[in-house]
Amino acid sequence: MEVKFLNHKGNFQYESVRLIYEKFWSKKGNQVLETIESFSELKFSPHPVQVFIYSGYSFAKNIAREVFLRNTLPPETGKCILIHELCHQLLHDNGIAQGHFDKTGQVPISEKIVAHKLIYLILYDVCESLFGQSLADKSVQFEKGLLVNKKHIYETAWNYALQFNKGQRANEFRKQIESYKKNARN
Ligand SMILES: [Zn+2]
Repeated sequence: MEVKFLNHKGNFQYESVRLIYEKFWSKKGNQVLETIESFSELKFSPHPVQVFIYSGYSFAKNIAREVFLRNTLPPETGKCILIHELCHQLLHDNGIAQGHFDKTGQVPISEKIVAHKLIYLILYDVCESLFGQSLADKSVQFEKGLLVNKKHIYETAWNYALQFNKGQRANEFRKQIESYKKNARN
């Protein structure tokens, strides 16, 4: 799967940040994708993903295959946030834990927590495997401090995932994915 890094709306003020991600990806992108696929036992769709550097909070538009990354993320932590957003794309590509939009066009908080609990069952171990424990830990601390609609959904989901050890997380992830696939068949 090709991942392209672009300045949002062609705004050149993000260029130095964009270049950091582009350089990182040219060195390590294939390894990142392989590691995510290996821990999740799921495959990305082969269609390209565009990553826009911009000045808002980081999120993904999975149907459009677009990721938006905040330009001021600490460079090291930013790699794990990028992987976080790619994990949303991976779940989407496999039809798993898709949030439903409510009347206000938002995915309800409860569904966001479900998706993040699932992602965090692999995200820590993917980042640890790629970058080492210190950066994986730093990234968890960073995310725990972020609020979504004034709610600590990341902290809740991280506390859930990290109550387990590595083997338990892998088992729990597999179990939940199986149950989504089974429900999709019924
Ligand atoms: Zn997320």
